[in-house]
Amino acid sequence: MFGKSTLLLTLAASVLTLRAEEVSKYVDVRPGSLPIILTVPHGGDLKPANILARRYGVTAKDTNTAELSLIISEELKKLYGGTPHLVICRLHRSKLDCNRELSEAAQGDPMATATWKRFHDSAEEVEKQIARSHGAGLTLDLHGHRHEDERVELGYLISGSLLNTSDEALNSDPKFLRLTSVRELDLRSPQTFAQLIRGPQSLGAMLEARDFRSIPSPSKPSPGKAIYFSGSYDIAAHGSRDGGTVSAIQVECPWNGVRDTEANQRRFAQALAAALGDYFKTHFQTPLAPAKN
Ligand SMILES: [Zn+2]
Repeated sequence: MFGKSTLLLTLAASVLTLRAEEVSKYVDVRPGSLPIILTVPHGGDLKPANILARRYGVTAKDTNTAELSLIISEELKKLYGGTPHLVICRLHRSKLDCNRELSEAAQGDPMATATWKRFHDSAEEVEKQIARSHGAGLTLDLHGHRHEDERVELGYLISGSLLNTSDEALNSDPKFLRLTSVRELDLRSPQTFAQLIRGPQSLGAMLEARDFRSIPSPSKPSPGKAIYFSGSYDIAAHGSRDGGTVSAIQVECPWNGVRDTEANQRRFAQALAAALGDYFKTHFQTPLAPAKN
């Protein structure tokens, strides 16, 4: 009796060990030293046969976003002497969608479930680390879109229809601060909420100053009736809407001029890296720099 249960326990333990080893291949975690987390949920290619195909939801990958995140990391290193923390899902979106809550993300598959947990646990661990080393930080959740208007779409969990409102309303109605993934950054920033997300020193404005058309920004403060992605699970989970000092922005990249060629990926990465230095100075009110050991 004793022998049998020991055997079963040993078997169960080795199944768990094998699963952990397999999962570690599906989530690429690269520790960094800057107070920035780049999460990439939709850039993966792997379609292992032992993971069930998802039966509903979007299954198209965001081509070249994993590659782009590595180039952004290189450009940040050149400017600030440290790298961001990277959390990249290597499973194809037809197997797992890390930017959805678990039931839609993994649709019951045990290996996909374990991979989803590793992706989000890793990001959460980094958030705690950044809170200790820097006090506050920023998650950028990197994606690709194919909308007709080829702008970089920055998502703050404020929907397109809610963005179609005045700056006065954005600044005075407390519901916007309850909704947004940059809730804590708004408290830190000397600027108003409307300025933070679409003013002359918003991230959108800083990208436009470097030749990448963006929304929201002073030139395009709201989408009108056009489709616009305002963010989803990742920036809700790894931003400051529900607490903490790490805020989050979804960065949706168009194909042409940003994701299409390596040269354009490099150009965009340089613009984003330079913009982030200004952004930290302006809104976090601290220079973007690696943790001191
Ligand atoms: Zn995506």
